[in-house]
Amino acid sequence: MKDSTGTSNLLGMTLGQLQELCAAEGFPRFTAKQLCDWLYKKRVDSIDAMTNLSLAQRARLNEVAYIGREHPVNCQVSRDGTKKYLFETENGERRVESVFIPEEERATLCVSCQVGCKMGCRFCVTGQQGFHGHLSAGDILNQLFSIPEYDRLTNMVFMGMGEPMDNLDAVLAATEVMTAPWGLGWSPRRITVSTVGIVPGLKRFLDESQCHLAVSLHNPVPQERLLMMPVQKAYPLSDVLALLRQYNWSGQRRLSFEYTMFRGLNDDLAHAQKLVEALKGLECRVNLIRFHESPEAPFKTSMPTTIQAFQNHLNRNGVVCTLRASRGQDIDAACGLLAGKGN
Ligand code: SF4
Repeated sequence: MKDSTGTSNLLGMTLGQLQELCAAEGFPRFTAKQLCDWLYKKRVDSIDAMTNLSLAQRARLNEVAYIGREHPVNCQVSRDGTKKYLFETENGERRVESVFIPEEERATLCVSCQVGCKMGCRFCVTGQQGFHGHLSAGDILNQLFSIPEYDRLTNMVFMGMGEPMDNLDAVLAATEVMTAPWGLGWSPRRITVSTVGIVPGLKRFLDESQCHLAVSLHNPVPQERLLMMPVQKAYPLSDVLALLRQYNWSGQRRLSFEYTMFRGLNDDLAHAQKLVEALKGLECRVNLIRFHESPEAPFKTSMPTTIQAFQNHLNRNGVVCTLRASRGQDIDAACGLLAGKGN
């Protein structure tokens, strides 16, 4: 858990990890619970503020640990109220973005879990940047803790920069902190984790987490999906769907598929029908997303009438399908546009 400075970031540590730290330092076991209270209930940003710890304990903790709270270095506000926050770590070399999305009845934070991404999806600005490092659980939680809207948040989605199943230890630690009674105490139903479908990570996630799952599908035709999403080569969609069919989706945990509409590539009724067949018998929903055109990606967004026809076909054939509202497009905060540029 120690970082490059040889000290440990307390933010993001689970109760079990804090108990290990306390044991190593010779602190009583209950100190770990006190640390959780300060970190996750009171959300202090300094060890000195933990006033029910002895002065000696605080002095020692200051030597071996810190609380990795970093304020965003920039915030852009969209016409629709969406806000894009830029965070910098390690002297500005690692830049990640989070997007706050206020709606009438809820407020969602979309967080990043990696700096850049290895998956190389052809339509995604983040993917074109390449991979520049993992975020720790503390880095992930900091995106939540350090924005002024923290108290308004009702939901969190892991749909920012990076592939959650490729940094699963950190994602699971962050979601454990968010959902545990000693942590933030959120229901796992308030958290959605997305993936392109890395099968081993996905299996572990399904076994160890109760959070909702969103799978980026985008094309039901294997050869065509491969052209858009290199992950299809190592983990074909058929393997992903076979794994998902082994789990029960009729309870409270929700399974959804993200489907970005690209003009002329995946948006006709033949694709809609193939999608219906691929998802047959699986309790799920499909979220259609309008592609947000950018100079970096040579694709066009589908016509509104085409999207409507596609949605109607799915709904008529027993697949619940909604069109996701586009938010924050004018500040490059929409899906697939996060680049860590902050401007
Ligand atoms: Fe990575 Fe997601 Fe972008 Fe694909 S869409 S490159 S998984 S961030």
